[in-house]
Amino acid sequence: MNRVECAIIGAGWAGLSAASMLSACGREVLVLEKARGAGGRSATRRQAGFSLDHGAQYFTARSDAFVQQVQAWRDLGLVQSWDPSIEVIGDRPDDAGQRPSERLVGTPGMNAVLGYLARPLACRYGWHLAAMQYKDGQWQLESAAGERIEAKHLVLTAPAPQTLQLIGKTHPLADRVGAVRMAPCWTLMVGFDRRLDQAPEAAFVNSGPVSWLARNGAKPGRQEESWILQASGKWSSAHLEASPEAVIEALWPVFLELVPAAHGRRPALKTVHRWRYAHADNPLDCDFLACADQRLAVAGDWCAGNRIEGAWRSGRAAAAWLTQRAD
Ligand SMILES: Cc1cc2nc3c(=O)[nH]c(=O)nc-3n(C[C@H](O)[C@H](O)[C@H](O)COP(=O)(O)OP(=O)(O)OC[C@H]3O[C@@H](n4cnc5c(N)ncnc54)[C@H](O)[C@@H]3O)c2cc1C
Repeated sequence: MNRVECAIIGAGWAGLSAASMLSACGREVLVLEKARGAGGRSATRRQAGFSLDHGAQYFTARSDAFVQQVQAWRDLGLVQSWDPSIEVIGDRPDDAGQRPSERLVGTPGMNAVLGYLARPLACRYGWHLAAMQYKDGQWQLESAAGERIEAKHLVLTAPAPQTLQLIGKTHPLADRVGAVRMAPCWTLMVGFDRRLDQAPEAAFVNSGPVSWLARNGAKPGRQEESWILQASGKWSSAHLEASPEAVIEALWPVFLELVPAAHGRRPALKTVHRWRYAHADNPLDCDFLACADQRLAVAGDWCAGNRIEGAWRSGRAAAAWLTQRAD
């Protein structure tokens, strides 16, 4: 069995910010991620010659600490400002009228910073944690393929329902983790060979089946004519188990309504992705959860108020807690 000091489950914002901080503090770290690369829900998919941000669309930086960190990534060319023309369709929710701070995107894709953070770290991709138990002062982790790894400290950063499944319903943290509900999001990705004569570049849609439209190719560092349409949480929940074909059939007419220039144009790419756990409806307000007896920290956007900045903060708070532990 392989042994490591700190195992981090998940190579998204929370996992990689935790792993970077622990590594910088001299801890031996191993990141275990079930997907083929870093990013998590801040994902970039490459398909049919297109590169699409089909998860997080952009992010904001509100705290001084994150603003400072973002500036360092900006200096490295990993982050740029995105200032699209945005249409608002339907009645605004109460808080949507406030213009947020600057919108930021990873370049060339939303996973750019995550790839950068992961590079110097020991990461195992395609490693799906299937079972875990704390025994004799060590975490024994087992992958879906049957590989075992032992760790003294463990940081879990999977979405709340997946974390609950891993820790089990009788764990001391189970009630808090189990209280978080996460809504799904069906995402339509569309690519064209030639440019469309279409404005605006993004839309908040506050009624009907979709909630967001963006011309992905108009973000800095992207070139192709590609679009992202996200279904609302309500629609996605109601169609959670629908087939990809049925979802494309339902969302395509909505896309054409919002992007009339696409009428009569045959897309080179038209596909969907289902995020089963996209956003927490009721995120906790605690940065992270800890079980000191088991040297376990649980982190993620759903602990720290949703969104990328929350995930980053959550991972770092979990790492800071672990580094403060003498053992
Ligand atoms: C469609 C969509 C749109 C969004 N739009 C925005 C936006 O515009 N702005 C914004 O700020 N945020 C947005 N978000 C939210 C943002 O993506 C998240 O807040 C952030 O990416 C969460 O990071 P995380 O590290 O907490 O979790 P994740 O990114 O989910 O990372 C968890 C990682 O753990 C891995 N994992 C899970 N279980 C296991 C296991 N058993 N074994 C191994 N690995 C495992 C997963 O594969 C994943 O990589 C959006 C999310 C979605 C889905």
